[in-house]
Amino acid sequence: MVGMSASAVSVPMPVVPRRRKSPEEVAAAAPVVGKKSVLLAAPRGYCAGVDRAVIAVEKALEHYGAPVYVRKQIVHNVHVVSSLEAKGAIFVEETDEVPEGALVVFSAHGVSPAVVQSAEDRHLRTIDATCPLVTKVHREAVRFAKAKNHILLIGHKGHEEVEGTYGEAPESTTIVNNPAEARTVQVEDPDHLIWLSQTTLSVDETMEIVEILRERFPKLQNPPSDDICYATTNRQVAIKKIAPQAQLVIVVGSANSSNSVRLMEVALEYGALASHRVDFANEIDESWFEGVATVGVTSGASVPEILVQDVLALLAEYGYGEVEEVVTAQEDILFSLPKELRATLKEAGDTSRGLGGHGQRPVG
Ligand code: SF4
Repeated sequence: MVGMSASAVSVPMPVVPRRRKSPEEVAAAAPVVGKKSVLLAAPRGYCAGVDRAVIAVEKALEHYGAPVYVRKQIVHNVHVVSSLEAKGAIFVEETDEVPEGALVVFSAHGVSPAVVQSAEDRHLRTIDATCPLVTKVHREAVRFAKAKNHILLIGHKGHEEVEGTYGEAPESTTIVNNPAEARTVQVEDPDHLIWLSQTTLSVDETMEIVEILRERFPKLQNPPSDDICYATTNRQVAIKKIAPQAQLVIVVGSANSSNSVRLMEVALEYGALASHRVDFANEIDESWFEGVATVGVTSGASVPEILVQDVLALLAEYGYGEVEEVVTAQEDILFSLPKELRATLKEAGDTSRGLGGHGQRPVG
């Protein structure tokens, strides 16, 4: 099955805010009076890994011609996927849907060794657009499993990134989905235990899970550095600052984008009275603005800025034309394009975008 639509490929993540406002709290806070305005989070939108992956597909189309097959959505964003489809990319679920010998790009979320092997078996040419920060977690999984540790992988079962990391050492890994599972997970050797995590989780919820695990398994080791990536962390820090002042937070991002869904949850936890996720501005419902003076706006790490600008334009029509950008970090991370592509670009003398990524590094 090839050429699946974006919606067919996606696996929506559950939206379960950890804490909802009580009806009394909502009633106490409304109606809101005051000047209508927007607080716009920064950083927001594209991270370095997403930018790199999207450029990788664009460059592959430019240099090898269509079709270029992509296993899974290259990044979790409906607009990005449909734009690349229009240029000749064909999104598939698995490598066995790709014709023998064709070119396939692995998405930013990473793949397990079994997927790499399957591509080799079918003589596919591959470009690995796995984000380097996901690759780092894969390497940790391999290293710790070789050292006879059991890995508790904190992340969402069924998410592509978690499947890829799990696939590096399935015999030595147990996925921990949430605090409830942290309370019940069983391990054979609690003296040789380490936790790793998906890169796009809620920072707070992950630490809550780690605390539960550590209470049960005091010798649980920490990874050498945080697996939750700089982009996820920075976007959550920015919305935490805005949420207490916003009656409504709009997150631009797709339903299967883990970090976008987490931004909604974080906004609610940190004081926003309501939070809605939209792929496009036309999904915004006028009723959301009743009693709202201040609207917070942010976007997930796979969202092009043009979609945020569309939302801001619509908000201006509703009277929220005054926009203040709330900057909590400056970012300047750049990732090299995938090595398979770099060689081709070099041969072709293409120096136009030899580096992909305009993500940003956290300050402080
Ligand atoms: S969200 Fe983080 S891990 Fe995922 S692609 Fe972006 S930088 Fe990489």
